[in-house]
Amino acid sequence: MKTKEILVVGAGIAGCAVALALAKRGIDVTILTSPFDQRFYHAPFIRHESLEEKVCDLQRERQEHLSCSRAHEQLAMLARQSIDELLEPNYLVDRNGNIDIHRCLQDQLKQHPQVEWISHHSVIELLTLDQHSLKKADRYKKPACIGVIAYNHETQRIEYYLAKETILATGGAPSLFPYSTHPSSACGGGIAIAYRAGARLLNMDQIQFHPLGLFEKERPCFPLPLGLLTEGGKILTSKISPVEVDLSSPSFLLHQLYDQLLKTRSEHLWLDLTLLDHLALKEQFPTVDTYCLNHGFNIVKDPLPIVPVAAYTCGGIAIDKAAQTTLLRLRAIGEVACTGLFWNFKEESLSVLESLTWALACAEDIAKQANKFIYYFPDLREGSSHLGASSSIVEEDWKFLRQTMWSYVGIHHDRAHLDRGCALLDQLSLLNTPHDLPSCSIEQIQLYYAIQTAQLIAHSVRAHGTFINCSARSSSFFQRGATDNMRLIAT
Ligand SMILES: Cc1cc2nc3c(=O)[nH]c(=O)nc-3n(C[C@H](O)[C@H](O)[C@H](O)COP(=O)(O)OP(=O)(O)OC[C@H]3O[C@@H](n4cnc5c(N)ncnc54)[C@H](O)[C@@H]3O)c2cc1C
Repeated sequence: MKTKEILVVGAGIAGCAVALALAKRGIDVTILTSPFDQRFYHAPFIRHESLEEKVCDLQRERQEHLSCSRAHEQLAMLARQSIDELLEPNYLVDRNGNIDIHRCLQDQLKQHPQVEWISHHSVIELLTLDQHSLKKADRYKKPACIGVIAYNHETQRIEYYLAKETILATGGAPSLFPYSTHPSSACGGGIAIAYRAGARLLNMDQIQFHPLGLFEKERPCFPLPLGLLTEGGKILTSKISPVEVDLSSPSFLLHQLYDQLLKTRSEHLWLDLTLLDHLALKEQFPTVDTYCLNHGFNIVKDPLPIVPVAAYTCGGIAIDKAAQTTLLRLRAIGEVACTGLFWNFKEESLSVLESLTWALACAEDIAKQANKFIYYFPDLREGSSHLGASSSIVEEDWKFLRQTMWSYVGIHHDRAHLDRGCALLDQLSLLNTPHDLPSCSIEQIQLYYAIQTAQLIAHSVRAHGTFINCSARSSSFFQRGATDNMRLIAT
């Protein structure tokens, strides 16, 4: 058993941002993160001017697209400060005008003496007072998280980490769908882990889809700008048959492309840019040009394979302005969390700004608490130190899970499809629910959590069906229990 001050789980933009904000306040922080396949990770590049513009807009704008007024106020107030504090010292803009935010944060963290890295560890459960304390009276205390149980991929052993505060930054769930902008590991495991421990979830139905993802087999699909179509790009079902599409809204386009895929039973469609002015195209879309060239596509010579893709999880673990969840000593940040903000495609840099802003607010709050709060650590009920052997069925079940999400829960979700989707997921969940976690392999545990998150999404979409404004819901922000709000947002 190891005891840490502050444990951050996950080393994406959100995890790195909060760890850096804590370290800058003189707080010892441990980042624990699972193995991450860098080959398949294309960090979001944020346009330099789009971040700057967004901060100015936030200060002017009323909350037209953004739903929770308190969350919007916080974003408008702290966004500039969070950029100054977390990015400015290491702000590198590439020749296309982009900032690699993840690298910028990581580089600062690597040099920081107060940051400890524990990589190749996957959290499989949260330690809570009511579930894991040996003292029976602890179950009558307020529900609290006291650390994590993690699987060490190198030693293949289970390890226990106690912490004053645990911060989940494990990312979203777009890769529950077969086509997503994210790495295949982004299946919302952290959401299911927190839910299992009793944390409240919010807006689980709100999955953002993007109509144009660059299709690459078994890899994340890079999101292509819709401007490629408005500039005259053509959609083809095969390399020779053009399809007329209505560009009046991204949502229309999304449904049309999805329908075309179903109709033609093809793996992907094509986007033909070859008839556009080559020089103008390269000049207007330099990031797309560079990305495509690096991945073997020449945008001015060949049509690009495209599919609609899941791009962002707007819902997740409900948090307040200091990233506090409904479980004491558990915070959440980034795509795993739901602040009550949501947006459409025009607001493209907001999720990153949201992570930076909440990282700052969370670190401030922890710094204040650390001086006035004595953290309680009980003796723990410990279990097995090993996991079970893996099973070959897991791969098939993953495929089935993603296909079910795509066909029954994804872009078209009428009642009949959702009923069928929920039933199939419930069945899959029954078949994969372990008697106890240590009897399973790490792959089975990850599948189990992915199925749980998929069920939460599917049941949430089915239960509500129509969008409920988040601001109307903000008074009940801290109720424990079911998940709310639904709709798929076409970005
Ligand atoms: C190609 C692309 C383009 C994008 N473009 C934009 C954009 O223009 N604007 C914008 O605002 N947003 C954009 N996004 C979305 C935004 O980048 C993501 O929402 C954001 O990166 C999520 O960061 P995160 O830190 O919350 O999660 P992630 O980056 O997914 O990081 C999660 C971390 O948690 C770790 N982890 C997961 N589970 C466990 C576990 N059980 N135990 C231990 N560790 C775990 C993972 O290994 C990883 O380190 C884009 C995303 C992509 C992929």
